[in-house]
Amino acid sequence: MGRTTVIRNARWVVAWEKGSGAPGDGRHVYLRDCDVAFRDDQILHVGAGYAGKADETIDGRSLMVMPGLINMHTHTATMPIFKGIREEMGNPRFYMSALYDGWPLFVAEPEDKHWNSRYAYAEMLLSGVTTVVDMCFPFPGWVDAIAASGIRGYVSPLFESARWFTDNGYQLQYRWYDDKGQKALRQGMDIIDQAEGHNCGRLTGLVSPMAVDTCAPELVRDALAEARRRKRPFQLHVGEAMMEFLEMTRRTGTTQIQFLDGLGLLGPDVIIGHGIFLDHHSWLHWSTRDDVRILAERGCAVSHCPVVFSRYGIALEDFGSYLKAGVTMTIGTDTHPHNMIEEMRSTAIMARASRESIFALKTADIFHAATAAAAKALGRADIGGLARGMKADLVTVALDDPAMMPVYDPLRCLIYTAADRAVRDVWVDGAKVVENRKVLTIDWPEAARHVERMQREILPKVAARDYAKRTAADVSPLTLPIGRA
Ligand SMILES: [Zn+2]
Repeated sequence: MGRTTVIRNARWVVAWEKGSGAPGDGRHVYLRDCDVAFRDDQILHVGAGYAGKADETIDGRSLMVMPGLINMHTHTATMPIFKGIREEMGNPRFYMSALYDGWPLFVAEPEDKHWNSRYAYAEMLLSGVTTVVDMCFPFPGWVDAIAASGIRGYVSPLFESARWFTDNGYQLQYRWYDDKGQKALRQGMDIIDQAEGHNCGRLTGLVSPMAVDTCAPELVRDALAEARRRKRPFQLHVGEAMMEFLEMTRRTGTTQIQFLDGLGLLGPDVIIGHGIFLDHHSWLHWSTRDDVRILAERGCAVSHCPVVFSRYGIALEDFGSYLKAGVTMTIGTDTHPHNMIEEMRSTAIMARASRESIFALKTADIFHAATAAAAKALGRADIGGLARGMKADLVTVALDDPAMMPVYDPLRCLIYTAADRAVRDVWVDGAKVVENRKVLTIDWPEAARHVERMQREILPKVAARDYAKRTAADVSPLTLPIGRA
């Protein structure tokens, strides 16, 4: 017998009604005034009148209890240091994207990267994330950092055949590695072995070749074979940028999705990172309209990260249409802030603005995407919902927080108004990781101080890394000029 916690008389509970028992099959429903009990890492009871004993009882009368959110797309090791720099940094000659000549200027030193990750894990936990897919080029201390955070982690080491670069700011080039990334693939699998062997028991591997344009087709094929041998999910960036679309159509004569499909590299275990610039996108004027249908027919998922693209003025067109076509739609934060609830709000805004319709998608679709659909994409029937026998990954939301009130519909109040301000407590695997809005497992202020130091140290080095020797102030001018004091 383990330790049992019961949340009594929760005013609202988002409960999971299982369907066939297959991952993601079922629906979320609201329950009123009932109990949620969990023992160790498992949910024991969701419903009226829990009669068993409890070691800890929490008064739920001013709480909503909901399943933890699943963040399907992050790169924690690189993102927090960009805060205040990247939000208005783009290159119009690369169709707004700063991927190629902005991103590489602000990369932290390898031994410091774990501070970025710790900072990002804290942000996520505070917004109710209990599972994260973290795709990083391997760095020292990664597995220890994600294990110590208390989060359920998909350790997803990135590898690739080539690195993109530019030496003039308008031509995108690729520097191909001699072995086309085969060694990096093997190193990535070693990190997955290390993560899955960690005694925290919350880490799983995900096989993640970087992007369709930076990976040779053979590397993508070998990586997918490795994922299938290991029975682990697989994620690849596809349709992330206009330049990628142009490069791939130039290289292959067809769209990225049709190219991958022709090689037999799509399937229900494949998660497409972003999936924005597919053949129907209005910027492309491509002649086919097949990509979304192919994704749906192959059973693929898409990890949608609206915030980072909204900064460039780029939209996925549109979430509701992909959903209607049958694509498994999931949500990730990609960059800072690692705030899943803000990301869910942006999913609604961007989808409705793209379609010019409030009916483009429903809040229930968004919540499903951030929980059960993600569980389906990861092949997990035990996360993404609150039902007996599932993992005790759960979140309480303070209904008496003024930002939540008045509570006619708690998920709308959470997603459209209160966001992380109302997230009170978070448990992962039955262990409390956030208590009364404070992360218990990470010293977030300490991580923030390190990220600030790292940003300060990196700013003077920007000019040396830039093809045109631009300074940080050239690349990312301050919002306001500095006035005379
Ligand atoms: Zn990404």
